[in-house]
Amino acid sequence: MPVFDIVIIGAGVIGYSIAFRLKQTRPELRIALLGDKVNSHMASRAAAGMLAPYGECEQGDRFFHFCHDSLKQYPQFVKELMEVSGVPVYISMAGSILPSISYSHCWDERLQFFRSEGISHEIWSRQTLNEKVPLLSSKIFEAIWVAEGQVNNRQMHDALVAATEKLGVHLIPDTVTGFQKDESLVRSAVTDSKEVIGKKFVLASGSWAASLAQGLGVNFPMKPVKGQMCRLQMSSKDLAFTIHGILTYIAPWGEGEGFVIGSTMEDKGFDSSIEEEVIQGLIDRASEILPCLKDAPVMETWVGFRPAAEDKMPVMGKSGTFENLYYSSGHFRNGILQTPAQADYMSACILGTLENEIPEFAPSRFNL
Ligand SMILES: Cc1cc2nc3c(=O)[nH]c(=O)nc-3n(C[C@H](O)[C@H](O)[C@H](O)COP(=O)(O)OP(=O)(O)OC[C@H]3O[C@@H](n4cnc5c(N)ncnc54)[C@H](O)[C@@H]3O)c2cc1C
Repeated sequence: MPVFDIVIIGAGVIGYSIAFRLKQTRPELRIALLGDKVNSHMASRAAAGMLAPYGECEQGDRFFHFCHDSLKQYPQFVKELMEVSGVPVYISMAGSILPSISYSHCWDERLQFFRSEGISHEIWSRQTLNEKVPLLSSKIFEAIWVAEGQVNNRQMHDALVAATEKLGVHLIPDTVTGFQKDESLVRSAVTDSKEVIGKKFVLASGSWAASLAQGLGVNFPMKPVKGQMCRLQMSSKDLAFTIHGILTYIAPWGEGEGFVIGSTMEDKGFDSSIEEEVIQGLIDRASEILPCLKDAPVMETWVGFRPAAEDKMPVMGKSGTFENLYYSSGHFRNGILQTPAQADYMSACILGTLENEIPEFAPSRFNL
């Protein structure tokens, strides 16, 4: 096994996108990426793919601006990814709908936030909704349209796997069980069958980052937040927009791929059980917004784990404990959205060219 310049641990969108950007920037780098690319509980394949900083964020802080910048980068990021990988990825920048019945408690605050941040939005009357979103329940008299996006995150993950492989990243589908290290350097990542030696290491292992960090003798306050989801069969020609409902959302995944309905937020560790009544609750709430969903066939149900740091902010940057260790985890509810900006931020950080470190995201806040 050669000595790799960079060893990335984690086969979700975060790990792959860092590898992709690094290889685009410095093709000569020898990069290994470790992790099971079909881990069915990884957040990257479980997500709904909403690119929704405006529906999700409530204040114009650093986190919001990072997410906002990432949204702007998305069309170009997906274009490059499709060109390199040859894998089609559904992306829509048609926007999101915030129906009045879901946002009645904070309607004015949302509008105020959109105005103060200069976010492109419109208020659609029932007449406009009849024209643009005819499937929406007749009980909805008004909605805000906001300029967000939607991606099919499974297709994007497939494209990232194919693109990094084409660019020459060494993909090792193994689980890391420990590390060889000394006081200030990580020497290798150890799996059941091999030792992967590297000059730099990146921990991009989502909710599992805490247990991996333990192997380095580091206490990483990261935990999984469980989400139950389902996908219903509907033609995406019927709906171009993502809809934020009451404790639920409806996300189109492209023609033939149906609509994703999500999701719960459960603090239950790595409990992967799927509860029929919970899924039915999601469908019932979504049907109040789009009545046609009530009888739509269920294509699949699943569970995924959002990686959540103690303060719910991403953990991105250089370790203060090991000179050659970097973290990118804790992307929580918006990791798909953050993928392009995160890839740029982390590849610059690893290459030592990062100009403006974001202190709110720094691993040092947890003494990592
Ligand atoms: C139900 C749900 C809905 C979501 N919806 C959205 C959404 O609409 N929009 C949005 O922006 N975000 C959404 N998210 C959040 C987003 O999915 C995550 O923030 C993002 O996918 C995190 O990516 P990741 O690569 O860090 O983690 P993951 O995708 O979880 O990947 C972690 C990787 O680490 C690997 N790994 C773990 N342990 C080891 C080990 N010991 N050795 C080797 N590899 C290891 C795993 O196999 C996996 O490949 C959602 C998440 C969930 C769960």
